[in-house]
Amino acid sequence: MKEKHNCRCDSCGCAFIPGPKTKREGEIEYSFFNCDFCGKAFIVSVTDEALRRNIRKYAVFADRQKTSTLSEMELLVAARLKQENLRRAAELRQMYIREE
Ligand SMILES: [Zn+2]
Repeated sequence: MKEKHNCRCDSCGCAFIPGPKTKREGEIEYSFFNCDFCGKAFIVSVTDEALRRNIRKYAVFADRQKTSTLSEMELLVAARLKQENLRRAAELRQMYIREE
């Protein structure tokens, strides 16, 4: 992921270009960036071992879809995987992010 988006810090109001970093705590991995001006941390995502494994599984389907046509069954599996990953990511956010 190399997209550069301008973000507006909701703490100091400055616009900045985020440079995502990751931090590991046991099997939990946080992806975040800090405001260039006030240093406030914004958490992008929280993943655990199982979620990262499922994200990689989904990426394989997404990758193959670029070069070949997936069967209906594979598309179904990929769609369910994506849905489950999003659900789990939202769950982990709630569990691990304490937003002030
Ligand atoms: Zn700021």
